[in-house]
Amino acid sequence: MELKDFQAVTDLVAENLGVQTQTVKISKVRRGRCGKKFIVIPTWILSTCEEYQIYYAVHEAVHLRYKNHAPPFHSTESRLLKELLDLEIEYRHAYPRSLSVNGQQVYEREGKKKGIDKIKEKVINRIEELDQETIKLYREDWYWADHCPDEVGKYHTYYLPICYRSEELGITDDEAYHLRNHGFSPRNLRFYGQGFALYFDRDKLGLRKKEIRIKAEQRSISREGDLT
Ligand SMILES: [Zn+2]
Repeated sequence: MELKDFQAVTDLVAENLGVQTQTVKISKVRRGRCGKKFIVIPTWILSTCEEYQIYYAVHEAVHLRYKNHAPPFHSTESRLLKELLDLEIEYRHAYPRSLSVNGQQVYEREGKKKGIDKIKEKVINRIEELDQETIKLYREDWYWADHCPDEVGKYHTYYLPICYRSEELGITDDEAYHLRNHGFSPRNLRFYGQGFALYFDRDKLGLRKKEIRIKAEQRSISREGDLT
């Protein structure tokens, strides 16, 4: 939403409550506020879903009438969300646990910690998957085993990556930043044309060690286009 949309929601709520509306400002603050002169909406709100943005504007505007979060505040807020905007709210203390439209959930509160843990888990699973693929490729590194019979039975050392692009990890660049800022990555992100490369510490994350040893096997298979 834009500033004018926040203003429109605020005006609508003020009119319904029979109170004087206030000018809305969007600024880089942590939390919104309904002050004496302005209603302040934090900039970070703009990256959340529209329903949550509407909810936020309604919440601040209801403070024009009720200063605290006592029961009259909540009954007014939930009534206005439903009547004016068809949003149903489920509370967790003073704030929404979830928002729904026609029984369909459109917003769910997620603790910050929980959010980062979820991304972390996703990334670790993805790295393990990529490791499996890489190891499979190393094992199929048949060329030297087929063509250098002397090598058969010997161990060769290979290395697993210590960084992947956000795209390969199935996360957004924002999520990669988020991880970096939460100590996931020992180094700064690097930009690689398409997405960021996220470095990681294999030991710290309980992943396979970077160095792996694979035994060369004699293969009987011969591939098409094989060099002879
Ligand atoms: Zn409040």
